[in-house]
Amino acid sequence: MITTTNPATGETIAEYETLDQNGIDRKLETATRTYRDWRTTSLDQRTKVLAKLGDLYEANQEELARLAVTEMGKPITQARAEVGKCANLLHHFAENGPPMLESRFWELSDGGKAEGRWLPLGPVLAVMPWNFPYWQVIRFLAPTILAGNVGLLKHASIVQGVAKRMEELVLDAGGPEGLFQNLCVSSDPINDVIADPRVVAATLTGSEGAGSAVAAQAGKYLKKVVLELGGSDPFIVMPSADMDQAVKDAVTARIQNNGQSCICGKRTIVHADIYDDFADRFVAALKDVKLGDPMDDDTELGPLSSEGQRDTVLDQVAKAKDEGCTLVFGGEKIDRPGAWMTAGLLTDVPLASETGTDEIFGPVGQLYRAKDIDEATTIANAIPYGLGSAVWTTDETEQEHFANKIEAGMTTFNAVNGSKIEAPFGGIKRSGHGRELSEFGLHEFMNLKTLVHP
Ligand code: NDP
Repeated sequence: MITTTNPATGETIAEYETLDQNGIDRKLETATRTYRDWRTTSLDQRTKVLAKLGDLYEANQEELARLAVTEMGKPITQARAEVGKCANLLHHFAENGPPMLESRFWELSDGGKAEGRWLPLGPVLAVMPWNFPYWQVIRFLAPTILAGNVGLLKHASIVQGVAKRMEELVLDAGGPEGLFQNLCVSSDPINDVIADPRVVAATLTGSEGAGSAVAAQAGKYLKKVVLELGGSDPFIVMPSADMDQAVKDAVTARIQNNGQSCICGKRTIVHADIYDDFADRFVAALKDVKLGDPMDDDTELGPLSSEGQRDTVLDQVAKAKDEGCTLVFGGEKIDRPGAWMTAGLLTDVPLASETGTDEIFGPVGQLYRAKDIDEATTIANAIPYGLGSAVWTTDETEQEHFANKIEAGMTTFNAVNGSKIEAPFGGIKRSGHGRELSEFGLHEFMNLKTLVHP
């Protein structure tokens, strides 16, 4: 059984029976059978399912948002936004997806021509995390449906209610049984699922450890894999920044999703000329964050997703102090049932320390002073990750510098960094490889078949 727990109260929500070997086998058989038909469906049929699914996410927004809040504790306003973003992505692929699958043609130097045609691959496994329990999955599912593939979901154990509901919604949208199936399992049988010849590829969003395990197994069986892993994104503020907005957004970047987003601005790096002013305002604004019941519309910071996740962050704060960092305030356990802790801030973080190079997946920020643009860049890149980044400057020369020099899959200027439904998303270094979203994400799990006509 998998038990889900409300992190705001510590109370048990539900128990889910896990699939045994036979149950998994039946799901894989269904996936194979459904794929044989789904791969031959027209784009019109596929986009109808996508559009209907988008409508259902809109129509059920409140119920879905509340379910996520109950299972993983994010503030309700952010849960509603996440469900809305899923609806937008589904509609985006329904409306704009088909041209992404048009063939390309080449004239051949020895006469004749070649066509590159996008064909589906088969059943793809998605191993997904709890932090954006709908969005991470929809980012995989929308292109899966459009491509003519079928999807198998191994969702994080703590969001099994969300996983079950997502499976139901695909059926409600007119998707055939087997188009998208939830495998209610722990991570134990996942190696066997990856090895199974009926599964053609795997994608994982989650920690480095899980990514490495899934990639190793996929490599052993020569299956393609896309990885979206952790990050410790820089949030750089240069002297030309709009200070009020930069402070406000630095706080949002750090505490959004209760500090548990792979692309949170986790390390705030400020130019020395404005550092003191920024630091005073940033500390005041972080202390002012409204912590409370995640079901309240006013709440900005709720509990962490589980007591285990909270304890990991508390251990990281203790480690930071051991390493000589200054805990300016907060970062403490709140003594009440559930996974609660306060927001906090660290300074004097040595770049090569564990604190300086690890991801802190909770509401504890790090603040750095940079004497100039080169030092800001050095600090930004002094981590093993390369997912996102945000830079505050209105100077175009500085923007170009950061565009080319920050080692990351994404840089956002003068705003909180976040994935965009139309644009590619993914990381470099230990944040993973491959892309999601846009035609680049769509094509990751497709066969670009070359047809030659001499
Ligand atoms: P995990 O990596 O433990 O969990 C993610 C998923 O992987 C879950 O479904 C989990 O299942 C599964 N899993 C864990 N270990 C294995 C394994 N050995 N084989 C197969 N599946 C496995 O992540 P956390 O819960 O620790 O989530 C936080 C981490 O994920 C952070 O580092 C964060 O940055 C990263 N992340 C990255 C994102 C991105 O877009 N790049 C987005 C979200 C998070 P189960 O729950 O049953 O253990």
